[in-house]
Amino acid sequence: MHPIAILGAGIAGLTAADELQRRGLPVTVYEAGKSVGGMMASFKDADGFTYDFGAHFVNNRLAAELGAADICRPVRHYGEAVRLGGSSYGYPFGLMRSPRFVKGAMASRLRSHRVKSAEDWFRRHYGDALAEAVAIPIAEAWSGLPANELAPAVGEKMSNGALKTLYLKAASRLTNRAVCIGYSHERPESAAIHHVYPEGGISRLLEPTLERVRHLVRLESPVEKILVEDGAVRGLRVKGETIEASAVISTAPVHVLPKLIEGTSALDHLARFRYRPMIFVNLHFDGRGHLPDTMLWVPDRKMPFFRLTETPISMPWLAPEGKTLITFDIGCAVGDELWAMSDDDLAKLCLSGICELFPHLRGKYLGPGGIMKTPVSYPVYSLEYEEDRQRFARSSGIDGLWSIGRNGEFAHILMEDVYCRTKRRMEEVASYVSPPRATDRAVRQLQIMGKRMAESVGGKTEAA
Ligand SMILES: Cc1cc2nc3c(=O)[nH]c(=O)nc-3n(C[C@H](O)[C@H](O)[C@H](O)COP(=O)(O)OP(=O)(O)OC[C@H]3O[C@@H](n4cnc5c(N)ncnc54)[C@H](O)[C@@H]3O)c2cc1C
Repeated sequence: MHPIAILGAGIAGLTAADELQRRGLPVTVYEAGKSVGGMMASFKDADGFTYDFGAHFVNNRLAAELGAADICRPVRHYGEAVRLGGSSYGYPFGLMRSPRFVKGAMASRLRSHRVKSAEDWFRRHYGDALAEAVAIPIAEAWSGLPANELAPAVGEKMSNGALKTLYLKAASRLTNRAVCIGYSHERPESAAIHHVYPEGGISRLLEPTLERVRHLVRLESPVEKILVEDGAVRGLRVKGETIEASAVISTAPVHVLPKLIEGTSALDHLARFRYRPMIFVNLHFDGRGHLPDTMLWVPDRKMPFFRLTETPISMPWLAPEGKTLITFDIGCAVGDELWAMSDDDLAKLCLSGICELFPHLRGKYLGPGGIMKTPVSYPVYSLEYEEDRQRFARSSGIDGLWSIGRNGEFAHILMEDVYCRTKRRMEEVASYVSPPRATDRAVRQLQIMGKRMAESVGGKTEAA
C-alpha cells in the first residue's frame, strides 16, 4: 500500500499520523515550515517573557491524552470581562446584572424572530441592547464583515448556556481551579475539566506525540499539488517529485485547496472562503493585574483591537516577577494600513489605545514584546458561501481526500476539538485505505446473526 500523505505538522497532522501509525498504516507527513506545531508556537524573549501565537489556553484532559500532563501546571484562575463606557463588566454575569441588557433580553423573548444572519441570532438570544453593545461589534471585529452578512452559525459557536456557565463558575470557586467554560464542544465540560498550561509554552504539548512520529515527518516539504484522477486522489507533488499516495489528509486552509488540486475543478468553490488575518501585539508593563480579568473584550469600534489578554493573571510564570505582558488582538486585511504598519507604530497604537481605557498604564509601560502577523486566523462564516461550508463540513467531495484541523475544516474549533475530530476521522481514512475484506465482512455478519439467534432462543427458554 502507498503511504497516506498528510499535509501539515500542526496538532491535526501529528495526531492523524500518530493514530494511523497506531493502526499499522504507512504514513508520511509533509510540513512546509522548518519546524512542527503550526499555530501552536511559543516564544521566549530576551527579557524573560513567554508568549504563544496569540494567547492560548488548554485543559487537563487534552494535556493528559497528549501525554503532556507531567509538564503542565494547574491554572488557578481564568476569567473574562467586557469594557463598556468606561467600566468593566464580568462576563457573562456582570453584563447580565445591567437592567438595560436584562430588559432587552426579556423583550427579545416575547418577539418572534426570523434568524437569517448572525445579527438576527444575537438579537434573538441576547436582546437588542446587548447584541448592539457587545456581540455584534466583537463578531464584526474578528470577522471583518457586518453581522448581517455572517451566518447564524457564528452565534451558535459563541454561546454557552447561562445555567451551565453558572455551575462551572461555582465549581471553579470550590475547587480553586480554572474550570473550562466554552472550550470543548466535542466532549462534555464538567467541574473536573480545568485549565492547565505547559512549562515553556503551548508548543511543548506536542512533544510526546512528536517523539512517536518524528521519523514520519519531512520538514521544509511544501506540498505543491494534490493529484486527482477520475474523482479520486492518486498522489501528490512535493518539491517537484511525484509521490503516490493511498489517501491524502490536508490541514492547509481550505481556500488554497483549489490551487493545490490538479485533475478536477470540483473544489473550485472553496476559493471564495475567507479567513480573517490577525496581528498579535505583545507589550510589557511593570506590575501585574492591570486588566480586570485574564481576558478583556473591547467592543469599541474606535479601538484598533477587540481583545486584550493578560496571560500572567492566569499563568504568573509567563512573565518575570512583578512584571506582566498584555496581548492585543487586531483584526485586519492583508495589505491594509494596519498590516503594513511597522512594529514600532503598532506598539504605539496599542499603547495609546490601552491608556485611553486605563490611563495609569502609561507610566508602567516597559516596551514592546513580540509582534506577529498571520493572514489566516479565523474562518469567516460568510452568508455568501454558507451552504457550501455546510456541505464541505460533511465531505470533501473527492474520494481519498480529507481536510481536517481548524483551517482544514474551516471551523471555529480549539485544540481539543481538533484532536477529537481528527481521531474520529482517521477511522474513516483507515477503512478507506484498507476496507474490510469480503470474507471478513461475511464472517462478521454470520457472528452477528448467530449472536442474535442465541439471544432470541435464550429469551424464549427463559420465558418458557
Ligand atoms: C488567535 C488564536 C487563539 C487561539 N487560542 C486557542 C486556545 O486558547 N485554545 C485552543 O485550544 N486553541 C486555540 N486556538 C486554536 C488552535 O491554535 C488551533 O485549533 C490549532 O493549533 C490548529 O491546528 P491545525 O493542525 O489544525 O493547524 P495548523 O496549526 O495551522 O497547522 C497546519 C500546518 O500545515 C502546514 N501547511 C500548510 N500548507 C501546507 C502545504 N501545502 N504543504 C505542507 N505543509 C503545509 C503549515 O505550515 C502548518 O504547520 C487559537 C487560534 C488562534 C488563531
